[in-house]
Amino acid sequence: MEGFEIKITNSNKGKGLFATKKYDPGDIILEEDPIVSCQFAWNAAYRYLACDHCMRPLETPERNVRRLSCKSDIVLPHADCVEMNLDEATGCDDCEALYCSEFCKQQAYVTYHRSMCHDSLDALHPMTVVLEEWKQMHYPPETTNILLLIRILAYINQNSDPAAAAAKIKQFCHRTVNEDAELIHKLLGEQFAIQLNRLRELTAAVIDGDYIQDFLTPEGFCALMALVGTNGQGIGTSPLAMWVNAVSELTMSDDERKQINLYIDKLYQYVEEESGTFLNTEGSGLFELQSACNHSCSPNAESSFPYSNHRIQLKALKTIMPGDEICISYLDECMIQRSRHSRQKELAQNYLFKCWCERCTSQAADPDVTSDEDMSEDEPDDVD
Ligand SMILES: [Zn+2]
Ligand SMILES: [Zn+2]
Ligand SMILES: [Zn+2]
Repeated sequence: MEGFEIKITNSNKGKGLFATKKYDPGDIILEEDPIVSCQFAWNAAYRYLACDHCMRPLETPERNVRRLSCKSDIVLPHADCVEMNLDEATGCDDCEALYCSEFCKQQAYVTYHRSMCHDSLDALHPMTVVLEEWKQMHYPPETTNILLLIRILAYINQNSDPAAAAAKIKQFCHRTVNEDAELIHKLLGEQFAIQLNRLRELTAAVIDGDYIQDFLTPEGFCALMALVGTNGQGIGTSPLAMWVNAVSELTMSDDERKQINLYIDKLYQYVEEESGTFLNTEGSGLFELQSACNHSCSPNAESSFPYSNHRIQLKALKTIMPGDEICISYLDECMIQRSRHSRQKELAQNYLFKCWCERCTSQAADPDVTSDEDMSEDEPDDVD
């Protein structure tokens, strides 16, 4: 039996994920595949070879590190500790999409790819046009992707029960029109109103159908874009990281361990010098259960991608008792260390809520100091 349920919280957070049994630190709470996921547009343009469906890397760690560091003579030790099964890789029969397996190819085709399959070299195809315009609006670091939005619409269209699929997606949209517009402003910048309308027209040229009409109106499209921006969970996969993880599990002497760790540091240094921010295959996905997880600044759970693909795993960080709400942190490692004021400002800007977690409540009496790192920003402190 599952050890959790989704229910309405008694605070103003809407839905939340609650434990129905006890979890010890390290216990796996759940694992799930996303409804849909996809690689970011710039990331894909920089030849991050990955399965078009599950984002599993399609190059060996050695090839990956050679390409990223521009050093073609690197030979990774223990290269065979990572199993890649690259000979199972296959492609769509009608376009350039690549898949890690026949399974992913079939899954993609029946879920969304049938409506989206196109020749990516055809510069005039509506799909190519919308992706190119998107890339001009949203530069790296990428946080979301128009392609994820289009896959969501295709998922509804191709579903055997499109009305139910549309209703499932609408459950994620629960903000007011103004809140949605505020999120899009943050996502796209000053020109957001014009750009949003342009994206809507281009999307409508790509995909159409009775059950997605609500999402193609100005308000519906804005809500869907905000949904993708806030509920789209970042996914990262990397052949090099797979190798580093696998090596860390090998048995070796202390001396060997020291050597290999130095070697790994050097590899990352080479890679960073050449490839900077583009180290991983990155994208985002829409997860049904995971996205019900609310934020806490002292979370009792964390999510990760242990299989080097888009399958997410939620693990307990602390002891969780039946009835406890299961929370993760929406803030990155650096931001979570900052003062209550800084954390709340970040959450208010990106997710439009005021955090009342245990940690924030216990620090409520602290003066409104912003952490040093934020001092240069000149945005008004309108959180409190
Ligand atoms: Zn795959
Ligand atoms: Zn195709
Ligand atoms: Zn908090």
